[in-house]
Amino acid sequence: MSTGHAVDALHLSGWAHAYSGKVRDLYVPADVAEATDAEGAPRASALARADRVLMVASNRVSAFDHVLEPEIPAKGALLTQLSRWWFAQLPIANHIDPTAEVPAEVADRAVVARRLDMYPVECVVRGYLVGSGWAEYREHGTVCGIALPAGLANGDRLPEPIYTPAWKAPYGEHDENITFERSVELVGADVATALRDASLAIFTQASVVAESRGVILADTKFEFGADPETGELTLADEVLTSDSSRYWDAAAYAAGGPDRLASFDKQIVRDWLSANWDGQGVPPRLPAEIVEQTAARYRELIERLTA
Ligand code: ATP
Ligand code: MG
Repeated sequence: MSTGHAVDALHLSGWAHAYSGKVRDLYVPADVAEATDAEGAPRASALARADRVLMVASNRVSAFDHVLEPEIPAKGALLTQLSRWWFAQLPIANHIDPTAEVPAEVADRAVVARRLDMYPVECVVRGYLVGSGWAEYREHGTVCGIALPAGLANGDRLPEPIYTPAWKAPYGEHDENITFERSVELVGADVATALRDASLAIFTQASVVAESRGVILADTKFEFGADPETGELTLADEVLTSDSSRYWDAAAYAAGGPDRLASFDKQIVRDWLSANWDGQGVPPRLPAEIVEQTAARYRELIERLTA
């Protein structure tokens, strides 16, 4: 499916729908979409011709690669606000076009970005041993092939953050962990090195900011692109949101109780789903209290970080 997740595209003056991921919808300038349609080319290909994209964050929530029902109220706006806030803190070029007007209907949950030539590498940085990293470490003593000291436990802080890139798979396929050497084959040594260095630097800086607010940034994923005109490495997509990052409450982590690794995002959804669904067929509908608890977590994170 080339246009991604089926959504009801909005009618936004001057923009036309081009692509939807699990959570976000991308629009291109209407004239670019028209020219693409006139040639009979797939609408998603309009993205490559546009110089601006409108990225609209929906309230959809996904877990275990399924988009769930119902949506989480205000999630799109909260994540957009958080992403904008981080972009403004970080001393690296980003894709936001501050001069462009965001359509009023989606003003709180959309950004207009410069359309970049995206690198097909998801730049994952891990500061702690958890999730799939912990599973691999337990079995092989490595995370994404990187050897780590023996004796680490689930949730432990790593001696230093590690860069574990993934290849960005086409829609509907799973992203695939790759070695740094493989990323060099994909984008060349200079870019691969720049992606790694920028990712580690941003992670370290963001961790300090989060920690000063009682929040641990356990891991995250960045996406970068090149400015089509200047080639400048530019931070794109969403940045340091709870969809792309694992955040923990530092006090709960230090206390060491059962919630110490409960992430500030979809943990409530994941836990409920694990307990109430066997992973076969269509996931069950989330109960109202799970939706409200999840929405409250998103609100709490943004208050903690940006207050
Ligand atoms: P999912 O996140 O659901 O696995 P996805 O990453 O394909 O799927 P979204 O995150 O919903 O989908 O959509 C954002 C898409 O826009 C991604 O493909 C991302 O690489 C791309 N993108 C982000 N910023 C830019 C930009 N400045 N220029 C061009 N494409 C961008
Ligand atoms: Mg994405």
